[in-house]
Amino acid sequence: MIKRALYIGRFQPYHLGHQAVLEKIGREVDEIVIVIGSAQESHTPENPFTGGERMEMIYAALDESDLRERCVVTPLQDIKRNCVWASHLRSMVPRFDVVYSNNPLVVQLMSEASIEIRRSPMYQREQYSGTAIRKLMRENGEWSGLVPDAVAAFIKEIGGLERLISVSKSDSD
Ligand code: NAD
Repeated sequence: MIKRALYIGRFQPYHLGHQAVLEKIGREVDEIVIVIGSAQESHTPENPFTGGERMEMIYAALDESDLRERCVVTPLQDIKRNCVWASHLRSMVPRFDVVYSNNPLVVQLMSEASIEIRRSPMYQREQYSGTAIRKLMRENGEWSGLVPDAVAAFIKEIGGLERLISVSKSDSD
C-alpha cells in the first residue's frame, strides 16, 4: 500500500535543512505532501515571503531533485484555535499516514489527534535555520549557500532581499 507522509513548515525561506529532511522522508515513504504553514503571512521580518512564493521556491528546489514526481506542495492558513487545528489540517490536504515535524506544538496537536508523528534529526541547525538565514539576509551576510541554488535564484528574482530589509525598518530609520 502506498504510504503518504505530510511534512509541514513555514519555510521562510525553504533551506538546505528542510531539503535534508525531505530527502530522508523520501527514503521512508512513497509520497509526500509538503504543507506551507502560516500561508496567509507575508511582508513581515519573520514571514517575508507569501504562501505562493514559498510554493514556487519549493517546486524550484524539487525540480533539481529526484523527489519532484512524488511530492505535492499546498498552502495552509493558520487558525486561531489550536484545539481543532488537526481537523482543519485534515480537511485541507490529501489524506496522509504520518506527519514529520520537530515543532513541539505540531507534535503535541498531532499526538492528541492520534496521528502518527515522526521526528527527524536536525541538520546543522545553527546555520540551517530560517531565523539565522533571514538575519544574514538583512545584514548582507553569506546566506545564499544555505538554501538550494534554485531558491537563492528565485529570492533574487522577486527582490526578496530588498523586501526583507524594507519591512524590517522602522519609520525612524
Ligand atoms: P519551520 O519552517 O521552522 O520548520 C519546518 C520543519 O523543519 C520543523 O519540523 C523543523 O524542526 C524542521 N527543521 C528546520 N530546520 C531544520 C534543520 N536544520 N534540520 C532538520 N530539520 C529542520 O516551520 P514550523 O514552525 O515547524 O512550521 C509549523 C507550521 O504549523 C507553522 O506555520 C505554524 O503556524 C503551523 N501551525 C499552525 C497552527 C494553527 O494554525 N493553530 C497550529 C500548529 C502549527
